[in-house]
Amino acid sequence: CPVHNYIPNWLKLANEGRILEAADLCHETNSLPEVCGRICPQDRLCEQACTLATGFGAVTIGAIERYIVDEALKQGWRPDLSHVRTRPWSVGVVGAGPAGLACADVLTRNGVSVTVYDRYPEIGGLLSFGIPDFKLELAVMKRRRQLLEDAGVHFKLNCEIGRDIRAEELENMHDALFFGIGTYKPVDARLPGADQGGIVPALEFLIGQTAHLYGLDLPAYPHIDLAGERVLVLGGGDTAMDCVRTAVRQGAESVTCVYRRDQANMPGSQREVKHAMNEGVNFEFNTSPLALVHEGKQLTGLEVVRTRLVAAEGGRARPEPIEGSEEVLPATAVIFAFGYQPSPPGWLQTLGVNTDDRGLVKAAERLPGQTSNPAIFAAGDMVRGSDLVVTAIADAREAALSIVSYLESVQAGRKSA
Ligand code: FAD
Ligand code: SF4
Repeated sequence: CPVHNYIPNWLKLANEGRILEAADLCHETNSLPEVCGRICPQDRLCEQACTLATGFGAVTIGAIERYIVDEALKQGWRPDLSHVRTRPWSVGVVGAGPAGLACADVLTRNGVSVTVYDRYPEIGGLLSFGIPDFKLELAVMKRRRQLLEDAGVHFKLNCEIGRDIRAEELENMHDALFFGIGTYKPVDARLPGADQGGIVPALEFLIGQTAHLYGLDLPAYPHIDLAGERVLVLGGGDTAMDCVRTAVRQGAESVTCVYRRDQANMPGSQREVKHAMNEGVNFEFNTSPLALVHEGKQLTGLEVVRTRLVAAEGGRARPEPIEGSEEVLPATAVIFAFGYQPSPPGWLQTLGVNTDDRGLVKAAERLPGQTSNPAIFAAGDMVRGSDLVVTAIADAREAALSIVSYLESVQAGRKSA
């Protein structure tokens, strides 16, 4: 478990019915345990490491973590902050995704005053505006928002840094800043015919569906209805699985995932793949897209080539096209779900925050999470590249402790001056 949860200890407490104590213990290491319990890829993290996983069947750790928190909250559990000593510092957190929320949680528990800024109307980042409701309900994030607000976190939503508040202005408003603004530039497959219509970008599709479901005012994300369509989803990660399962729920005539490697080499959670298969999604493995086929302006299909996997030195098996295996799969809508690249805004440079040649923020200057500007810290996808909720939480919690150490050292310096 990337956040080093005390799993055996809270399993024992849950087994003894000591749910409130179990919830306290869950929160010692994890800022969003009810979220991780729902959407961590447990089959390749905690449950894969379970000693019963070798043929017997792992303990359902995620489901129990989720149960503990849901049940404790029902019973009136609230974090005990009575021991917190107020410190004289203010930190601005940009991004209310899992990284920003975890940082805000740890800072608040250390007595630091925190304001979280986000461009969206609700907290959660990809948890609310990306991951579909059937995996993680928006009500879970609203409940967490209430807990954080009760603990003293101030949220400034519908506020985009760089547009509504200038970055340099923000720097002057706080003693330190934390950035957890994610990665949002879709990988472009540059397929011929992609500019002629029928293409649906994955995140736009998912966000539009969430906004439609909850009546949220997000004009940049119109609802895309795939009812009655023959849908192909390109990609093999969690985003692709969310798209195929959403298209099924919208009533698409057929839904097929096209992936260039085999099932064993898919990057996402196998549990999600199984769910998709059970829901009637077809899979075309070892198949690579070549071009979109149109009749006039109407998309009619996707030209593909079959692939075989060849061993690659020191890396994942590489898909190699099989000559002469080209064919056209029928389609009226194609969703691109190839993943996301870093998209660092220009103002990061103005603040003296360096990125590497891929655009990822360099965040381990002296303290974990510290950028090249000593008063600015960062974690989550913008540092690691697109990854997982639990790793964003783990890194942001560590960065929050770095912020406290940094502010203590600045204060000690001022006192001795
Ligand atoms: P984000 O969650 O992207 O949050 C960044 C926040 O910053 C957003 O709220 C954004 O609005 C805000 N922001 C950006 N720029 C600004 C600005 N200038 N001013 C103000 N606010 C700003 N991981 C899993 O573990 N399990 C899954 O099942 C899973 N499924 C996924 C499904 C999809 C469709 C996608 C896209 C990802 C999925 N992931 C999953 C990955 C996971 O969601 C991310 O790794 C995680 O959300 C990263 O957290 P973050 O806080 O770094 O960024
Ligand atoms: Fe498993 Fe994720 Fe919970 Fe860790 S946080 S115990 S990996 S579900």
